[in-house]
Amino acid sequence: MLLNRRDFLKAAGGGVACVSLSRMGFDLGPVKAYAADLKMDGAKEVISVCPFCSVSCHIIAHVKDGKLVNTEGDPDYPINQGALCAKGAAMLSMTRNPHRAMKPMYRAPHSDKWEEKSWDWALNRIADLVKESRDKNFVEKNDKGQRVNRLEKVFALGTSHMSNEECSLTHQAMRALGVVHMDHQARI
Ligand code: SF4
Repeated sequence: MLLNRRDFLKAAGGGVACVSLSRMGFDLGPVKAYAADLKMDGAKEVISVCPFCSVSCHIIAHVKDGKLVNTEGDPDYPINQGALCAKGAAMLSMTRNPHRAMKPMYRAPHSDKWEEKSWDWALNRIADLVKESRDKNFVEKNDKGQRVNRLEKVFALGTSHMSNEECSLTHQAMRALGVVHMDHQARI
């Protein structure tokens, strides 16, 4: 929002007044709620689902001019009833945090520097390493001569950012490789 000088002075004066009122013991809850309303004024409300774990809390996402401007718990959803844990409450920062890595970062063995890489490079590198390890370590039969077709030297770890469908595909791909050791963060 663009502010002219007059608006800026009014807003700054309001800010100072709010701090003073707060120190004097006034309840500023309604004022803060009004300020939050201004941010969402004219925004479209979309019901979404927190992707971080299988509780699947509902989130109300406010979208204004094609941008996400606010996220909060959905009070009408019976599971979370408006509440969100720390991960769900930090949802907005997923789209705005300037520290978020937007490209694969690679640190070569024994190096102390991170290099920015393309997705093609990163995916090829992962595929090469998985193939190399599988070729070297795939076990067709155990000590008793029984066929086991397993790969014990690769471990798959899921993330709470994955949807159920992504988890299912990853699980199938790992099993197809013979991977037996898997775990996942989102299993509340
Ligand atoms: S991570 Fe937290 S907010 Fe998100 S679905 Fe799980 S419990 Fe709910």
